[in-house]
Amino acid sequence: MIARLARQVRRILWPEQVPELADAGHAGEIVIAKGRLFVAALLALPGIITWIRMPTTLQGPVGVALALVATGVGFPILRRAQRGEGGTGLGLSSILLDVSLVTLYQLLLLLGGDAESALNSRITFTLYALAITVSALRYDGRLVRIAGLIAVAEYLGLIAWANATGHVFDPQGLRILGSGLRSQMEYSIILLTATALAAVIVDRAQVLRLSGIRDPLTMLANRGYFHERAHEELVRSARSGRPSAIVMIDIDYFKAVNDAHGHAAGDQVLRKFATVLRSTMRASDLVSRLGGEEFAVLLTETSLDDARIKLESIRETLRETSVTLPSGATVQITFSAGIAAWPDDGPGILKLLQVADDRLLVGKRAGRDAVVSVG
Ligand code: GH3
Ligand code: MG
Ligand code: MG
Repeated sequence: MIARLARQVRRILWPEQVPELADAGHAGEIVIAKGRLFVAALLALPGIITWIRMPTTLQGPVGVALALVATGVGFPILRRAQRGEGGTGLGLSSILLDVSLVTLYQLLLLLGGDAESALNSRITFTLYALAITVSALRYDGRLVRIAGLIAVAEYLGLIAWANATGHVFDPQGLRILGSGLRSQMEYSIILLTATALAAVIVDRAQVLRLSGIRDPLTMLANRGYFHERAHEELVRSARSGRPSAIVMIDIDYFKAVNDAHGHAAGDQVLRKFATVLRSTMRASDLVSRLGGEEFAVLLTETSLDDARIKLESIRETLRETSVTLPSGATVQITFSAGIAAWPDDGPGILKLLQVADDRLLVGKRAGRDAVVSVG
């Protein structure tokens, strides 16, 4: 009970990253990088107008200078995101950039003696909230939380510094509105609400994405996602020149399990088999349930021979594994597998799956409980 609660709290405070959302997050980083440049260009405009109309105040020149900094740093970030570099590190540094530029704007105004504009500016506060909300586009719950924390910490840190240095009073000695405790609490609550909103968006997106790519019975990748990802992995293999192996697996005489013990027992056996398969593969291998009692695995950076040795060892593991059903009966299964490897057996996923399937059929015809990698 307490352990479950602790897990729940941990999931809320620091959720796990979902690798299947990395692509969406990467596309989001590009959108954010373009948006940053666009907003910087737009915000330079009121800065220039203020500068012309009120040349003695700091708001104009400081605003324009920071818009230029955002553009100068924003272009390399966009280029890196478009090249597919960076990942979480890039997300983290762009969050720091966005939030810190807003803080820097306020700090420069404070240092320049314009505490009134610094502590009451609505636009700076809106930019904090915007930086948090758009971080949802990175589809990483942890980055959303970090964005919220950094924004609140920098905002409160700035106010604390202004308090400590006496910047919170106007020339008449009256406290400037935005530096009061009530404003700080209200602003912090709004920033935390923006963080919660972004976190919920990421959470919903994860549920939707995972339901579209996972098989609900075994939680393995479904056929569509397997094809999509296997294709990408083979493109990567072609670039690196390292081999990859594709395995087709079919459980032997599975219909007999259903017939003897019922469909629910069959489901339990399928789940157990999926667990064994997933746990014996590396995290980088793609394990999928194609449908029924048929599975496919893509072993990255693996030769045909190494794949065969791996599958033989799984065959041995399964020999020592049995599933105990609620009725008390035990079920033991075997499987047949066909293996094909890139590049020797074909250039693309469809051809490799076909070769692996042909070899699987050879194994079935030879009496089942077999791994076939030639022919
Ligand atoms: P073989 O050794 O030739 O592969 O024989 P088999 O009995 O495994 O193959 P067959 O294609 O004759 O039967 C597959 C069975 O898998 C039939 C079907 O009822 C069962 N099946 C397919 N999907 C599911 C499922 O989701 N749950 C359960 N319990 N059974 C399923
Ligand atoms: Mg079958
Ligand atoms: Mg079968």
